[in-house]
Amino acid sequence: MACKKTIIIAGKDEKDRKNLTSLLREDYNILEADGSGSAMEIMEENTSTAAAAILDITFNIQGGIKLLSALKRKENISKIPIIVITGKSDEKTELAVLEAGASDYIHKPFNFKVLKKRLENIIKWNENIAVARHIKKDNLTGVYTEEIFCKKVVKLLKENPDTSYAFVYSDMENFRLIRDLFGENAANNILVYLAKVFNHFIGRDELCGRFDAGHFVLFLKYNKKELDRNLESAVKIINDFPINMTIKLGFGVYKIEDRNMPVQAMCARAVMAADAVRGKYGQHVAYYDKKVWEKQLHEQEIVNCMEDAVKEKQFKVYFQPKYELDSEMVAGAEALVRWQHPEKGFMSPAEFIPLFEKNGFITELDKFVWDTACGYIENWIKKGYHVVPISVNVSRADIYNPDFIEIMLGIVNRHGIAPEYIHLEITETAYTDNPAQIIDVVKKLKDIGFVIEMDDFGSGYSSLNMLNELPVDILKLDMGFVQGGIDENSSSILSFIIGLAKWMDYAVVAEGIETEEQIQILKDMDCNFVQGYYYAKPMPPDEFEAYMLKHNIPDNHQ
Ligand code: C2E
Ligand code: CA
Ligand code: CA
Repeated sequence: MACKKTIIIAGKDEKDRKNLTSLLREDYNILEADGSGSAMEIMEENTSTAAAAILDITFNIQGGIKLLSALKRKENISKIPIIVITGKSDEKTELAVLEAGASDYIHKPFNFKVLKKRLENIIKWNENIAVARHIKKDNLTGVYTEEIFCKKVVKLLKENPDTSYAFVYSDMENFRLIRDLFGENAANNILVYLAKVFNHFIGRDELCGRFDAGHFVLFLKYNKKELDRNLESAVKIINDFPINMTIKLGFGVYKIEDRNMPVQAMCARAVMAADAVRGKYGQHVAYYDKKVWEKQLHEQEIVNCMEDAVKEKQFKVYFQPKYELDSEMVAGAEALVRWQHPEKGFMSPAEFIPLFEKNGFITELDKFVWDTACGYIENWIKKGYHVVPISVNVSRADIYNPDFIEIMLGIVNRHGIAPEYIHLEITETAYTDNPAQIIDVVKKLKDIGFVIEMDDFGSGYSSLNMLNELPVDILKLDMGFVQGGIDENSSSILSFIIGLAKWMDYAVVAEGIETEEQIQILKDMDCNFVQGYYYAKPMPPDEFEAYMLKHNIPDNHQ
């Protein structure tokens, strides 16, 4: 026999309720609610299981219609079809009940067989709609997919020309970390939980959508006070989720000013606003304002001229020497890109690299840096210099490029230099995205002869247990370990990490070294190489060439 469906019978009169229950019990699981409060509660708790509800409003028709409207305003409850029973058969009441959202209407006295048939029909009809709706909704959380969300926004904006609306972008800052540490299932459960929290905020003519992994977008009627209260409470509620870690939730809000903008562009403004709270302790909500707008404008300007900048050779490659601590001689250098902009002047990579990582242009720029660095090496070799290996930065996006290995090999071959001259700096966090794929690519590069450095080591989290499996030659410590002075605490962490690296047979580079004192401490810890302003800042190639010649490079160094 098929599993019984659950229905809710709500009404003030206990006798009538019991009567209905006893008549329908054979075919359905029955949940009873005796008043408006309990009706709301029971429906809320059973949104995913209740097939329908019967609401008897004979005792208080006006109150009943109000309750019905309130139930239908809740997005999750509105999915449950409701049949309303009244004691009146006039057209006015019937219309009011249907307008308030009832799926069907029946008045007393009624024929039980008719009621039962209507109930069956309504349930079937609703199930068909649910199947159709399912395709439009995110499988995991039941909220709208991006495509449907955007379409519905356009429709709602048209239908409600006088309502002030806002987009809210929700960003779970440590979602990837949670997924890596606790697994896909736990991460999915958090998303389902979060979607439930958001659904509570959603009323009539409002929407919730899930755009990608951990990001939801809400489309709400704008009421700053209520919004702030709801978002702050969401931050608290999400942390009731039973997991051994703080879930860092941040929100970006864009109150719509130009309703004719494409929906994606409006969402992008909420996303930009959310960027402003990333990494800020205790701050959860940021609004799209003039400051965010100016930043967006600035970024747009950078993006607009990035391609011309390559053509016009505005990007320059600088070199920062790397010293061997034992001999205090130059044993290598890192190639760092600089942008000499005709109007904006000298731009720091911190200003444009993160942007290029987002829009993918970084792969073009990196190719240029690798090629330029190899060009200099070729030239120095031709001049008969003893050339030190040069480290180049490799972005996450580079590694995912299926042609990465070929491109790298192509460049060194074109310049006729051995891969050993090139160290590839790959940041530690890149390894945590998709370890298997990255390990495979990096292994191949290492086999070809490139030297692999793990950049910013210690800034990630799975470092220690992953180290064993990684094809790495050199660990380059995150600057955070030495910057701001090495106190007792950071000194013991530093010595532990250096000790561990040595034990595992990795050479260690410390960067960001600015003082004699830091040098002494690192020497005592047996660190191999250092890079930092103490010895030299990044410098243009001709300066580096002279520098390299002056600082007697010893033979046979990495
Ligand atoms: P990074 O790879 O960790 O590079 C080290 C950064 O520290 C460089 O900043 C360098 O100039 C700076 N630095 C060196 N010594 C000291 C010191 O003693 N004190 C302090 N406070 N800083 C020091 P830069 O050149 O501004 O680069 C910033 C980041 O931009 C780099 O961090 C790297 O992630 C990225 N980057 C730079 N050039 C490239 C490139 O060609 N390709 C890619 N993909 N990323 C690059
Ligand atoms: Ca680097
Ligand atoms: Ca670094």
